[in-house]
Amino acid sequence: MSTQSATSDNLMEAVVSLAKRRGFVFQSSEIYGGLNGFFDYGPLGVELKKNIRDAWWRDMVQRRDDVVGIETSIIMHPKVWQASGHVEGFTDPLVDCKVSKQRFRADQLFFSPVNVDGKIVGYVSVLESERTTEDLQQAAEQFKRKRGIQGELAAVQPRDMTECKPDEIALIPSPATGEPGSLTPPRAFNMMFETYVGALRDASAVSYLRPETAQGMFVDFKNVVDTGRVKLPFGIAQIGKSFRNEITPRNFIFRSREFEQMEMEYFIHEDADWAKCHEEWIEWCRRWLISIGLPESHLSLYTHPKEKLSFYSKGTVDIMFRYPFGVQELWGIAARGNYDLNQHAQASGKPQDIFDEASKKKFVPHVIEPAVGVDRIFLAVLCAAYAEEEVKDEKGAVEKRTVLRLSPRIAPVKVAVFPLLKNKEALVGRARELHKKLQRRYAAFYDDAGAIGRRYRRQDEIGTPWCVTIDFDTIEKDGTFTLRERDSMQQRRIDEGELMRLLDESVY
Ligand code: ATP
Repeated sequence: MSTQSATSDNLMEAVVSLAKRRGFVFQSSEIYGGLNGFFDYGPLGVELKKNIRDAWWRDMVQRRDDVVGIETSIIMHPKVWQASGHVEGFTDPLVDCKVSKQRFRADQLFFSPVNVDGKIVGYVSVLESERTTEDLQQAAEQFKRKRGIQGELAAVQPRDMTECKPDEIALIPSPATGEPGSLTPPRAFNMMFETYVGALRDASAVSYLRPETAQGMFVDFKNVVDTGRVKLPFGIAQIGKSFRNEITPRNFIFRSREFEQMEMEYFIHEDADWAKCHEEWIEWCRRWLISIGLPESHLSLYTHPKEKLSFYSKGTVDIMFRYPFGVQELWGIAARGNYDLNQHAQASGKPQDIFDEASKKKFVPHVIEPAVGVDRIFLAVLCAAYAEEEVKDEKGAVEKRTVLRLSPRIAPVKVAVFPLLKNKEALVGRARELHKKLQRRYAAFYDDAGAIGRRYRRQDEIGTPWCVTIDFDTIEKDGTFTLRERDSMQQRRIDEGELMRLLDESVY
């Protein structure tokens, strides 16, 4: 009998704490106070992240005949970002607080007039959260109470700062100081990190850390077509770091300033049924997330309204995930027409068209782009897998166990090997031998410290799907050992051949 006790209120806290405690994620430069929006992955985190990447690469590239991979440089010619529109338009609306020097994303800073008996008596503001309206209402009640205003308070009418009228700005309090008068009107803030290439530090040397990996696929399109023996429809995929100077990085690794993307550009005929292809990729991505262990119940789709799309976009659907802090974008799947290739053709003067044997036509292909962040998957996986349970130990006493129900496909450690006792040479020898054998193919862990129950708990907490214990029967009888399953906690005897088959079927 077990009960789950981590509620969504404390789930995020529990996940962040486990991530630190067990070496999944650390704050970057922690000994210097950390750097906001940057993170390090520890010994277990780096394995989990690599497994997510590897699973995607295997399924997206190696197991498909129509997708090839590339790896392009992080710093590209600055003209790439002019042609793509990033220099001009890769911006978020920014509001400054002149007193506190804090900066806010205008679309995440909400305000409302405080309306008493039909009269506006002031303004309140809060930062966006799951409870934006409730928080504003509470702030309005407090505003009225503090000033001793009598009368009936109307329900708040939340708007974000991008919707505020010029004459309202001076009246809206800064969330940093609680006082009005210090917020600036929203302005466009470019999120690309600038750097200089070469020894000169003038305008001609300015370049950018890429804010997405996608442009690499467009810029190398011709190279791949000329060398890759690809024919339409086909995809070019890439995994790599991207950088965005986010105004308000938040929610742990969900929104950071340095993150990793897995993107694929799927090129199709200009007359192809793009809507069907778009649908197919949305479903492929959804299924893939389920295949690495995300519960279907936590996933949903969000279709971007037509009026909010860029002029060239035919449609964008986001796969959303129910994080503890709300339902948020995990994977964006965009139908981008042939905008990007056309832009690069124009800016570089190099045609980006393709001769299609089947239709005997030359044209610039259209593209469907599934783009996802590794770190966002990592966080989704941890949140979905985390559970705290009350279980009975061998003596019947109730104890708490923390368990990560990670899919064997991505679990950092696949199997742990224990000798029943650490002071019996024969047990230790056989356990070490099995461990070495397993290590050739899988991330396996050897542990002989403490009671078996404690060793199980340590593995449960990091999501190891199986533990095997070498006991006296193993060495004195048939060679079988105890296999203990993480989720059911059930135990059975199995031999080495069976264990290898089980791992092979579950891990890849
Ligand atoms: P958002 O609206 O959340 O800022 P976006 O729509 O700008 O995201 P895209 O440009 O479509 O994101 O990037 C593709 C994917 O890259 C996103 O779906 C997300 O998984 C990931 N991603 C984008 N920005 C970040 C970030 N700052 N930190 C971590 N992952 C990110």
